[in-house]
Amino acid sequence: MSDKPEKFIDENGLRLDGRRVDEIRPMKMEIGVLSRADGSCYLEWGKNKVLAAVYGPRELHPRRLQKADSALIRYRYNMAAFSVEDRIRPGPSRRSIEISKVSREAFEPVVLTHLYPGAVIDVFAEVLQADAGTRTAAINAASMALADAGIPMKGLVSACAAGKVDGQMILDLDKAEDNFGDADIPMAITSEGEITLLQMDGDITQEEFKKAIEMCKEGCRQILELQKETLKNKFAKLDEVEIPDEEEDVSALVESTLEPSEEEEESDIPKIEDAEEDIIDDDEIDDKSEDEESDYEDVEIVEGESSFEDVDEAESPEDEEEETA
Ligand code: UDP
Repeated sequence: MSDKPEKFIDENGLRLDGRRVDEIRPMKMEIGVLSRADGSCYLEWGKNKVLAAVYGPRELHPRRLQKADSALIRYRYNMAAFSVEDRIRPGPSRRSIEISKVSREAFEPVVLTHLYPGAVIDVFAEVLQADAGTRTAAINAASMALADAGIPMKGLVSACAAGKVDGQMILDLDKAEDNFGDADIPMAITSEGEITLLQMDGDITQEEFKKAIEMCKEGCRQILELQKETLKNKFAKLDEVEIPDEEEDVSALVESTLEPSEEEEESDIPKIEDAEEDIIDDDEIDDKSEDEESDYEDVEIVEGESSFEDVDEAESPEDEEEETA
C-alpha cells in the first residue's frame, strides 16, 4: 500500500486527483448489460467498476422462507478476488455480509414488496475493481438494475460518501482519502430525500456531521440526475422504434432495440458531466478487510428492526440452490 500523503488538499483547495472538496468522481453507467438477468447495470465511478444484476420477483424456495405478505429482498455484495491490490479470499467475509445487510435495508423502504407475497428479489452486486466507495457504487448500480428489471419502486436510491481529510470535509473519498483520512460517512438517499443508509467510521464534530449530510445530499442529487438520464435514454430509444404490423416477426426489432451499433455504444453511456447540465434545481433531496471487525457504526434510520442475523446462510441464494438440488 502507498504511504500517507503529506497533504490531501493543496493551497488552491484542490485534492490530489484535482477535484474540489465537494466534487464527486466522474461516473458513467449502462443498464441492460446482462441478457440472463431480469435487470442489470454496469457502473464506473472513478476507478471503481461495479456490476449489478437483479433476478425476480420469482417464487422463493424453500417455501418456509417465504413472507406471506411481501417479497423478500436478498442483496449480495461481493468483491472479486482481483478487485483490490492484495487479493481477497473468495467467499463471504464479515465485511461483505455487513455491507450486504445494510445495502438491503437501503432498498427495503422503496421497493413495493407487498405486491409480491411469497416472492424473492435477488440483487447481486459484484465489485470488479475497487478504489473506495464500493458499497455506495454498488447501491447506485443496484438501484438501476432494479429499475431495469421493472421492479416497482417509490423512487430510485442514490448513494455516496463524505469524509474528512486535513481537517476539512470532502465528498466522495478515493482510496488514499479513505485509508488515511479522519472519517468516512457513506449514505444512501431516496429520491424523496429519505436517508436509508448512514454509516460512520472516524471522529467528527456535530457541525462536521451536518456538513457531511449536506454534501452527500448534493452528491446524491447529481447521481440521481444521471440515473434518471440513463433510464430516460433507454426508454426514449424504445419509443423511437416503429411498431410493426401484427403479423410481422418482432424478433429483429427487439434485437435492434437492445443491441446498439458499435458507434452508438460509446456515446450512449451517459456521463455525470452530461447529466449535470440538465440538473433541475429542486428540493427532491432534503434533508474495511476480510474477516475484520467493521469500523462503521450502522446508524438505524429506517423503521423496522432487522438484525445482523437476518443475513444468515439460509438466506443466501447459493443455499437455496443447494436445498432445491
Ligand atoms: N479494500 C481492500 N481490501 C479489502 C477491503 C477494502 O483493499 O478487503 C479497499 C477497497 O479499495 C475499498 C476500500 O478499501 O474500496 C475502502 O473499503 P471500505 O471497507 O471503506 O468500503 P467502501 O469504501 O469500498 O465501501
